[in-house]
Amino acid sequence: MANSRTRIGIMGGTFNPIHHGHLVTAEEARIQFALDRVVFMPTGNPPHKQIGGEVAAEHRYVMTVLATAANPFFEVSRLEIERSDLSYTVDTLRAMKESYPDQTEFYFITGADAILEILEWKDPKGLSSLCKFIAATRPGYSTMKLERSLALLREAEEAGYPDVELMHIPALAISSTDLRLRVREGWSTRYLVPETVAGYIRKEGFYRDPD
Ligand code: NAP
Repeated sequence: MANSRTRIGIMGGTFNPIHHGHLVTAEEARIQFALDRVVFMPTGNPPHKQIGGEVAAEHRYVMTVLATAANPFFEVSRLEIERSDLSYTVDTLRAMKESYPDQTEFYFITGADAILEILEWKDPKGLSSLCKFIAATRPGYSTMKLERSLALLREAEEAGYPDVELMHIPALAISSTDLRLRVREGWSTRYLVPETVAGYIRKEGFYRDPD
């Protein structure tokens, strides 16, 4: 019998700013993992870092909406940006689970470097029981470190290891850090971010000062 469970991708990231690498990642995950849709989840108040350029969550949300508006399989959630406390992925997944039918399968999509730190996230065991992970890598990324730490996790059975699939994305040669630098230096961002996002960055004057 065909598997009729709904499969939802949750694309977690700071999106500061969102770029074509993120959009290609989400579309590739949707196709490779037969996802019904991908929900972009801009981080509200990250537990592990400062937001470069001091761009408020609401603005990162708007840029994500502008970038994804044309894709009927993409949507953007306000769940994390509306929470005043820290944005822990396990809390996000629990909240998402409540608003979907019981049998829904969740795939959390993000950068491989973020996944590498997963044991330091809140409740990694609980999180691993709620979703599978899709770890996107950039060109030149050595998967050795990630594969070694995943192997260690699998050995330590009591940890409840995460199910992680690697996905190599050439378009992730684009990075948000590099884009912020480009804006600051006055270099072109054309073809790296959607035009609508570039226009919004110009209009609001983001990233002109050092991070
Ligand atoms: P990050 O540390 O800023 O990013 C790590 C790397 O992954 C960067 O190279 C980044 O590139 C890339 N990346 C980030 N999101 C991506 C995506 N959706 N697709 C492809 N590449 C991506 O990561 P972050 O944005 O702060 O966090 C990523 C996700 O993990 C968020 O949803 C965050 O809430 C979650 N997280 C949760 C916890 C926790 O629960 N305790 C802790 C840490 C992170 P760009 O800079 O170009 O995006």
